[in-house]
Amino acid sequence: MKAKKQEKNLFKRIFSNVNHKYKFVVTDELTYEDMLTFRLSRMNLFMLIGFVTIFAVSITIFFIWITPLKEFIPGYASVDKVYQVYINQARIDSLRLRYDQEVVYRENFYKRILLGEDLYNTDTILPARNAEIDYNNIPDVKSDREKQLRKKWDNVNDYDLVYSNNQGVSRGIGQFVFYTPVRGTITNGFDALESHFGVDIVCKNNETIKSTLDGRIIFSEWTYQGGYVITIQHDDDLISIYKHNSTLLKKQGDIVKAGDPIAIVGNTGNLTSGQHLHFELWYKNNAVNPSNFITFK
Ligand SMILES: [Zn+2]
Repeated sequence: MKAKKQEKNLFKRIFSNVNHKYKFVVTDELTYEDMLTFRLSRMNLFMLIGFVTIFAVSITIFFIWITPLKEFIPGYASVDKVYQVYINQARIDSLRLRYDQEVVYRENFYKRILLGEDLYNTDTILPARNAEIDYNNIPDVKSDREKQLRKKWDNVNDYDLVYSNNQGVSRGIGQFVFYTPVRGTITNGFDALESHFGVDIVCKNNETIKSTLDGRIIFSEWTYQGGYVITIQHDDDLISIYKHNSTLLKKQGDIVKAGDPIAIVGNTGNLTSGQHLHFELWYKNNAVNPSNFITFK
């Protein structure tokens, strides 16, 4: 009972007189001269501590916000970073290939030619492209568990439409979640130097080609080289092109959602060497390699 009363008194002592004025003096030890004098009440003190705390917290948040310190916060890695990782992986791969070629070249040149030994076999002739592919018997090397998983998620994907909240602000190509236009084997990869601005995907007969993102059909016609070609304009200056189709299912001006059927795979056009989909992605006037963003297997 007494303790409780004392506690109450203490509380009262602290808070009843918050505006009572005190004097804070700094005195010289030798001369007893007042060096510094403050008039303080408890209220002032609380407010001062409060302000200092808020100021310190704000400064900390500000520094984390404007400096790379934020990268250390788990889960903050930006989408651009992920894209950079992709690009760097591709670069490392190219460099390693180049290095291997260089090693063979040096070996051949210095050792073999100068010493008159046999050359290493450096045959680089690639297997003929698209030669005699049996489109109905493309090997399906998936485990049963994987097939079950695919069955479950393939159906979900059919209705899983991707919407873009893009409001005129570009967030880079990493912002997109692409729907695979068709699953199959890539027989001819992206090679801008050879003017092959897309990938060739061989799939089963009469497969449906799906739109890779939400968008609007801006071209849907027969062309001499590409056969039946369909082109879709997506948000943020991204365009996807689908060539060599046997049938086109959408016409110019149509609006499509990601995963909507737009064509049937075919072998039309002058520049084709077997049934396949030629798929291109153009982002802000540049052809990009679709394999960097989409899994076709
Ligand atoms: Zn092609």
